[in-house]
Amino acid sequence: MTIVSDYQNDVASYWNAERNAVNLRLGDVSGIYHHHYGIGEVDWSVLEAPDDVREEAIIAELHRLENDQARLLLGHLGDIGPQHRLLDAGSGRGGSSILANAAFGCQVDGVSISQTQVEFANRQASERGVADKVRFHFKNMLDTGFEAGAYQAIWNNESTMYVVLDDLFAAHSRLLARGGRYVTITGCYDDVYGLPSRAVSTINAHYVCDIHPRSAYFRAMAANRLVPTSVIDLTADTIPYWELRQKSSVATGIEDAFLDAYRDGGFQYLLIAADRV
Ligand code: SAH
Repeated sequence: MTIVSDYQNDVASYWNAERNAVNLRLGDVSGIYHHHYGIGEVDWSVLEAPDDVREEAIIAELHRLENDQARLLLGHLGDIGPQHRLLDAGSGRGGSSILANAAFGCQVDGVSISQTQVEFANRQASERGVADKVRFHFKNMLDTGFEAGAYQAIWNNESTMYVVLDDLFAAHSRLLARGGRYVTITGCYDDVYGLPSRAVSTINAHYVCDIHPRSAYFRAMAANRLVPTSVIDLTADTIPYWELRQKSSVATGIEDAFLDAYRDGGFQYLLIAADRV
C-alpha cells in the first residue's frame, strides 16, 4: 500500500490538487518542473525590464535559480555513470530526475505519493524520449519494495519534512549500495535555540509538513549507516531567490514567513551529503 496514514492522505491530497503558478509557469520556461526553491545570485536587472517583458524575465530568472539548486544537489551524488541506478525520493513533477538522467545517462526511479504528480512526470519523461530510463512510481518512499542495495545514490530534494527521519534513512540505507551516496537539500530549524519559531510553524501549516530540527538529521543518519561527508549552509544563498519571488507575480503568500525564518537565524537551508558505509 502506498498511502498508509491519514497524514499521508493529507499530503497526497495537497500535491494532487497543487497547481501553483510558481511551479507550473517556471517549469514551462524549459519543460523542467520543480517543487523546490532556488539558490545563487539574482540578476536584479530583471526588475527594470520593460513592462511587456518584465514578468517573463522574472519567471525565467526564478527558474534559473531553481535549476541551479537541482544541479548543486546532483553534483554531490558522486561519480555516477550510465550503469548506475538513482532514486529520487519524493520526486514531485520529476524535474530533478530528468536533469539527473541528462547529466549521467543513467536509470532514475522517482517516487511520489501523489498519483497526479507521477502521471505528470511520466508524461514529461515520454515527451523527452527518456521514459525507458526515467520512471516515476506511485509509491511511498518509506516502503518502495525496490531491490536492496540496487541504488548507487538516493536524494531527497525538499521532501524529508513529510516523514519520520529514522524510517526514511532506514529505508534508504537498505536500498543504497555500500559506498553509495545520499544527498538531501532541506530546510531545518536550529534546535540549539530550542523549539521552532512562529515563522517555521507557519511554513509547516502552509505545506502540511513538519520541519525537523537540524540535529535529527545527524542522529538518524548515524543510526542508519549514513556518514555525513559534506554539510553546506545554503541559507544566505537562497535568500535572494525569496526576495525576488516576493516581488514577483507568482508569490504564493508564504514568502514573508521564509524570509523571517531565515533572517532571524533559527531556520537554515542545508545540503547534507552522506556515504552509505
Ligand atoms: N523533490 C521534488 C518535489 C519536492 S515536493 C522537487 O525537488 O521538485 C515534496 C514531494 O514529496 C512531493 O512530490 C510529495 O508527493 C512527496 N512525498 C511526501 N511524502 C512522501 C512519501 N511518504 N513518499 C513518497 N513521496 C512523498
